Amino acid sequence: MKEDYYCIDTQVVHGYKGYDEKTGAISFPIYQSATFRHPGLNQSTGYDYSRLQNPTREELEKTIAKLESGKEGLAFSTGMAAITAIATIFSAGDHIIISDDLYGGTYRLFEEIYKKYGIETSYLNTSNLETMIQGIKNNTKAILIETPSNPMMKVTDIAEVVKTAKQKGILTIVDNTFLTPYYQKPLNFGVDIVVHSGTKYLGGHNDTLAGLIVVNDEELIERFRFIQKSTGAVLSPFDSWLILRGIKTLAIRMDKQQNNALEIAKWLHENNEVEKVYYVGLPWHDEYQVSIKQATGFGSMISFTVKSVEMVAKILKNVKVITFAESLGGVESLITYPYVQTHEAIPVEMRNRLGVTDKLLRLSIGIENVTDLIKDLEQAIGR
Ligand SMILES: *Cc1c(COP(=O)(O)O)cnc(C)c1O
Repeated sequence: MKEDYYCIDTQVVHGYKGYDEKTGAISFPIYQSATFRHPGLNQSTGYDYSRLQNPTREELEKTIAKLESGKEGLAFSTGMAAITAIATIFSAGDHIIISDDLYGGTYRLFEEIYKKYGIETSYLNTSNLETMIQGIKNNTKAILIETPSNPMMKVTDIAEVVKTAKQKGILTIVDNTFLTPYYQKPLNFGVDIVVHSGTKYLGGHNDTLAGLIVVNDEELIERFRFIQKSTGAVLSPFDSWLILRGIKTLAIRMDKQQNNALEIAKWLHENNEVEKVYYVGLPWHDEYQVSIKQATGFGSMISFTVKSVEMVAKILKNVKVITFAESLGGVESLITYPYVQTHEAIPVEMRNRLGVTDKLLRLSIGIENVTDLIKDLEQAIGR
């Protein structure tokens, strides 16, 4: 389905080619082949070896590029492999500004691995433009933002960051995992690189790990293709197919998850045992206006604090429909304890400064019946 004028809920179902042109198979085939036969000397079918190109992976790469309004997509074995590919475009002496409230694995990658190759980083509150601008140095080469951020759900004004960055020749990178192109398309605001953990909403079923990058600039496309084939953390044909299948239902999943999340956020807000609720879709959220300016939805990630640490253990033990597990974005509702799970790699002082305390819990709302989810929370938390 090559036409670009269809709405995104149609595009997700039909992907790029959407079907096998040779046989008409409605489900895009899994090309489970490591290598491809050459028709003759100096001849190629366009596919030589699956680390370089694979038809199933290519269908996914072209699908995500189309959904993000980008020129090209690249699929990696995990979200961290995709972020690693981004890290490798920088050199010793380069400085990168990164949202201070971020996925713990991204922090660990830059601090524990890339620091020793001479890449400097500053973790700043990118929701506050002043703070971000003050953090720009002569050697700043990129700004990497998560919006909404993980787990405090802060929103960064993408257009404002791009405006500042472009004036200074700085690359902008957005981790779009939480909203996906269904709700937010950073490339349309002039962002240079979009990255995803496809493991989350795109896959949507808590069954596959994947990472994706989408770019517009020809030079960046070439660089990432080179990095992808040289470092080799490509997505397998089967996993590419699983993510393609997940994407088909992205629109209905995300809408249902968001509707559920909004009701649950309001219920938590009214609950006596809950101190504070962090959900972008609550009109009193600090950056609600920025959010409606740049995204068509709020997503279904909610964080909240309870009044005591004992309460945390009680909730995690007692939830029945909601599962106590890491990760997010799938059809099953999950509850996470960021302080010791996803954000354990971040120093305690930094965690506490951000609000990632031992009383904070994070919910990824799934597609279950919302009354069942609220009842589950009620029996675990109380009223
Ligand atoms: C999960 C996640 C990642 C890492 O992705 P993996 O697929 O687990 O490697 C990166 N960024 C965000 C925002 C995430 O939620």
